Amino acid sequence: MSDQGVQERAEQVARSLRSARRVLVVTGAGMSADSGLPTYRGTAGLYTNAETEEGVPIEVALSGPMFRRDPAVCWRHIGRIEQACRGARPHEGHHVLARLQERMEVVVLTQNVDGLHQAAGSRDVIEIHGNIHELRCPRCSWRLHVETYEDLAAVPTCPECGAVVRPDVVLFEEMLPTRALGRLSAVTEQPFDLVFAIGTSALFPYIVSPVIQQARTGGATVEIDPGETALTHIVRHKLRCGAAEGLTAIEAALRQG
Ligand SMILES: [Zn+2]
Repeated sequence: MSDQGVQERAEQVARSLRSARRVLVVTGAGMSADSGLPTYRGTAGLYTNAETEEGVPIEVALSGPMFRRDPAVCWRHIGRIEQACRGARPHEGHHVLARLQERMEVVVLTQNVDGLHQAAGSRDVIEIHGNIHELRCPRCSWRLHVETYEDLAAVPTCPECGAVVRPDVVLFEEMLPTRALGRLSAVTEQPFDLVFAIGTSALFPYIVSPVIQQARTGGATVEIDPGETALTHIVRHKLRCGAAEGLTAIEAALRQG
C-alpha cells in the first residue's frame, strides 16, 4: 500500500522541519478538497463548471469586463461558487498548518478564495486570488465581511454610494491584487527552510515559481498531492496522498522525534 510510502516520506519531512525556522506553504484547490469543496477547474481560484446558461464560457461570465457590462451574470456564478463553499469547515490539514506556527514562522500562499486557512488559525496568509467572503465597493471605500451570501440581494449594491458591489476575488482578465503581490515579493526575499506545495495543479507562475526557485537553490521542497503535477519531478519529497492525510502524517512524525 502507498501508506508506507507516505509514512516514510512524512518522517523525512519531519526531520527537515525539526530544524526549520521559516516555511512557505503553497496551497491550491486540492487543499480545500478534503473540506468537501469541489475542485473542477481551479482557474482564477474559483471553482467553476464548464458551461453557462448565458451561452458564454465561464471565463467570460466570471470576468472583469462582464462584471462591468452585466454584473447580474457575474453575481449568479459567484453565488454558486459561494454556495459550494457554504458551511465548509477547515479539515485536520488546515489545523496542522495552524499548529505548526507554534514551532516556526509559517507563510501560507493560497489560490483558494474560501478563507479556510484563516478559519483554522493561520495568521500569515497571502490570498493571491482574494476571498469570497469579503465584499467591496469598486467606487468608494465600503467593505463588508460576510459568512454567507444567503441574505444578499441577487445584485447587491453599496449602502454608501449605490454602486454594484463585488466580492474581493480576482475575476478572469483581472490583475492580481497589488497588496498580495507586494506581500508575496516581500516574504520571498528571505530564504525559506522548506517550501510545501499542496494540491496545486495550476500552472500560474506566481504559484509555482516559489517552489521552483527553492528547488533550484537546493532548498528542501515537499509536494502533497495524490496525483502527478508539473512540480512532482522537481520536489525532494513527494507524498502521494491528500492534504489532510499527508499533513497529519507529518505532524505525527514530528511529535515522535
Ligand atoms: Zn460605494
